[in-house]
Parts: sequence; C-alpha cells; structure tokens
Amino acid sequence: MQLDELKYLLSNHITSDAALQQALNAIEEIEEEIDILSFKNERLTKDKEITSQFLNKTVLDLEKVNKDLSDSNGQLNRYVHIAAHDLKAPLRTIEGFANLLNKSMTRSASRAELDYLQYIRTSCKTMGEMLTDILEYSSSSGGRLNIETIEITDLVSECVSLLRHDIQKTETTINFSIPTVKIDCDPIKIKQVFLNLFSNAIKFTAKIRPPVINVNSFKEEQLIQFSIEDNGIGIPKEHQPTIFEQFNRVDTSYDGTGMGLAICKATVERHGGSIWLESIPDKGTTFYFTLKQ
Ligand code: ATP
Ligand code: MG
Repeated sequence: MQLDELKYLLSNHITSDAALQQALNAIEEIEEEIDILSFKNERLTKDKEITSQFLNKTVLDLEKVNKDLSDSNGQLNRYVHIAAHDLKAPLRTIEGFANLLNKSMTRSASRAELDYLQYIRTSCKTMGEMLTDILEYSSSSGGRLNIETIEITDLVSECVSLLRHDIQKTETTINFSIPTVKIDCDPIKIKQVFLNLFSNAIKFTAKIRPPVINVNSFKEEQLIQFSIEDNGIGIPKEHQPTIFEQFNRVDTSYDGTGMGLAICKATVERHGGSIWLESIPDKGTTFYFTLKQ
C-alpha cells in the first residue's frame, strides 16, 4: 500500500484530530527515512559500480604484469640457457688443451707446473658440471614438459637400478612402500627429482651407522605425496630455509654443485606440486614432495 493511500485511510478512520496528526507525523517521518535510505542506496550502488570498475582494472593490470613477468622470465631463462650452452664449447677447448699439455709436459714439467695444470683441469671439470646443472635448471624451470602417463613404481625402480653402484658401495638399505599408481608427468624430469633426492640420501650418510633410506607415498585427494627419509648427517636448522636455492651447499667437502635441490624444486613446482623437508642434525633428513594424480 502507498503511503498516500495509508494517509487517506487513516483520515477516514481516525476521528480524533490529535491522534490523526500523530499518525500523519509518523508517516512523514517514515517518508523521510525512506528518502534517506533510497539516497544512501543510490550512493552505495554508485560506489559499488566504481569499486567493481576499479577491481576489474586492477585484475587486468595484474594479469598484464604477470604476463610481462613470465615473458621476461622466459626470455631470461632462454638467455641463461644459450649462455650456458655456448660457454661449454670454449671450456671443452681449454680442457682439451690442458689435457694435451698434461700429457706432453709429464716428463719436462716441474711439480709446481703440474699442480697448476691440475688446478686448470679440476676447475674446467667443476665449471663443466656447473654449466650442465645450469642448463638442466633452466630446462626444469622453463621449456616444455613432455607429459606421459607412467607407472610410478617402474620409474622409482629404474632410479634405484641406475644408482645400484653407489648403493652397493655405501651398503645402503632402501625400503619401499609405494602403491602401483599411474601419474601424468614428464618422466625424464620426475626421474631426475628421484635421482637427485636418492643420491643426496646416499651421499650425506652418517659414517657411524649403516645408511637406510625409506621411500614412502600416500594419496591425498588429487595429490600423491612422496617421502624420502634417510638416517644421514641431517641439515642444520639455519640452512634449512635456503637449502633449495641454487648453488647452496652446507659442507663443500662433499662432491656436488648445489644445484640438485634447486632443480627438484623447479621441476616439482612446474608439475603443480610442492617440495619441503624435515631434518634433525645428526639424525637424518626427510624430503617430501607432491605431484598431481
Ligand atoms: P648436486 O646435487 O648439484 O650434485 P649437492 O648435492 O651438493 O650438489 P643439492 O642436492 O642441491 O646439492 O643439496 C644442497 C645441499 O643440501 C647439499 O650440499 C647438502 O649440504 C644439503 N643436503 C641435501 N640433501 C641432504 C641430505 N639428504 N642430508 C644432508 N644434507 C643434505
Ligand atoms: Mg644433490
């Protein structure tokens, strides 16, 4: 019912002038309230429109920034790949000539000269390994993924057999508990993740106890989570937050370039998963990672 109709009805039904005036005053107050509310409503609708326009623009800006960032990341990645690849040729030349020099100088050279030559050869080898790791990292974080459906137990068994020599040499026991499950992934890259984590577990063993590695997995909704647990030297607390960074090593007396975990992280994240660790110094380390099923 309209307020005017209400006023009309009241004036016909209320006989007392005072009561009628009171009722009409109340109706006027309601009319004023309604005016204020509709004004506020109008303002709110306008504000909402402006906010939603602003939000749409912000989302578009963010999408553009995101795209620019990923373009420039991709470009940077390609430069790194080209630079690392092209540096390998001159390095091979230096290494080749250093080897030739080493052969021809064996008799005539002094001890110090042979030592200098050995430094050159060792540095060439280290630099070659670093370039290989940089190439691998740039292809893990960029480049195309060749997704296939694979049986994960086959892939893990293949990794163990590739590391057979090191496993026997270190007398490492490996226990598995992995269900036969198929996953969609780039098998070459995921194999590299398992190889990196297994070889770390075999490398950083505590000399005071026989090395044991437990490999487990469990399914959680759309994800499958793997864990690789060792009873090795562990990683000091202060190094744990940065352990996945490139070229990061706790103890440089062990072989390696410090790129293995950075490659693992880049690969797992490109597959939509995540990787993390738990470690107690002198007790052991467990690396966890997830993959989409
Ligand atoms: P690379 O893998 O490039 O040959 P790396 O093994 O030294 O060299 P990462 O695999 O990236 O490099 O590991 C980085 C560092 O983290 C290692 O140098 C080591 O200090 C520590 N670390 C990794 N895994 C373990 C582990 N299972 N137990 C103890 N320390 C570990
Ligand atoms: Mg490693």
